[in-house]
Amino acid sequence: MQKQIKLVKRPIGLPTKEDFEFVQAPIAVPAEGEVLVRTVYISVDPYLRGRMNEGKSYIPPFELDSVIASGVIAQVVESKSTHFKKNDIVLGSLGWQEYSVVKETGIQKVDTNLAPASAYLSVLGMTGLTAYFGLVDIGQPKEGETVVVSGAAGAVGSIVGQIAKIKGAYVVGIAGSDEKVKYLQEELGFDAVINYKTEDINDSLAKACPNGIDVYYENVGGEIADAVYPLLNKFARIPVCGAISAYNNEVADVGPRVQGYLIKTSSLMKGFTVGDYSARFGEGTMALAGWLQEGKLQYEETVTEGFDNTIDAFLDLFAGANLGKAIVKVAEIES
Ligand code: NAP
Repeated sequence: MQKQIKLVKRPIGLPTKEDFEFVQAPIAVPAEGEVLVRTVYISVDPYLRGRMNEGKSYIPPFELDSVIASGVIAQVVESKSTHFKKNDIVLGSLGWQEYSVVKETGIQKVDTNLAPASAYLSVLGMTGLTAYFGLVDIGQPKEGETVVVSGAAGAVGSIVGQIAKIKGAYVVGIAGSDEKVKYLQEELGFDAVINYKTEDINDSLAKACPNGIDVYYENVGGEIADAVYPLLNKFARIPVCGAISAYNNEVADVGPRVQGYLIKTSSLMKGFTVGDYSARFGEGTMALAGWLQEGKLQYEETVTEGFDNTIDAFLDLFAGANLGKAIVKVAEIES
């Protein structure tokens, strides 16, 4: 038997533990072309909150009473596939459970010689690729331009800021604690960082961006985004990656209308999901791995130990408890 985590209620506002249930279920047996894997790391991500709601989105909502799924790193226990052997380390979109039986087409091997397995959920995984494509393809920062990133100390934001530095931009981060501000300035070399919880975001942003803003990488929305619009330069670009400040809102988030700001500055605001770039994932992974190997890119992971703490790790995202990528470690890798 194994443990699984199911969604049993659609959260209203901030999710609570009562919205989830731990259940026991038998471990399935793989058929021909299938593989039994043991979960090693689970990725907890803000976008999962959207999948807990009913309604149309870019990805179907979780069904009630079904096992939640996200990016998972797992180790092969038993293989009925010619493509995988016992102990291979694989990545897939798998259930929040201790073991999974998956089709051979539903997982891919990861190269742990290049980077530790968990990196395929962070810098070399979905969040690293999101940072890369949103910034490089939509943001298109140029040398000397000012790039502002919100959620700057998180999985996506911390990589965005570093890529912008690599591209020669002046980088301003916005984050929610002094520890995060210190990390971004001292470890990652951001040019300025604002603690939006203790500073006046409008004053601090204007001071931090004396030449205006050319690229705003949007991760949070709300009042932080509102403070950006009056500072946009001509032909600014705004990749809209996320809006976590609104994910738990029970009524629609209303702020200043953006159209006037976009018209006056001829700015581009473009929403995207990383899946839009699936045909170019190879390019993104190569670039990120290259910068990692050259020592130009650093990454941080906040690892919560134990399957039983998966829900806490997910809820912690909304309290800003993570520095870098939030990951749950479920089991050790066996050699
Ligand atoms: P993350 O930044 O590692 O974690 C979430 C962070 O959001 C928290 O640490 C917290 O940091 C901040 N936050 C929480 N509530 C907030 C609020 N009310 N106002 C401002 N900040 C708040 O998560 P991530 O995985 O890198 O995701 C960042 C954003 O990108 C999310 O909006 C996510 O949905 C989006 N995303 C989009 C795609 C895509 O394909 N478009 C892919 C991945 C992620 P502080 O301490 O700084 O508040």
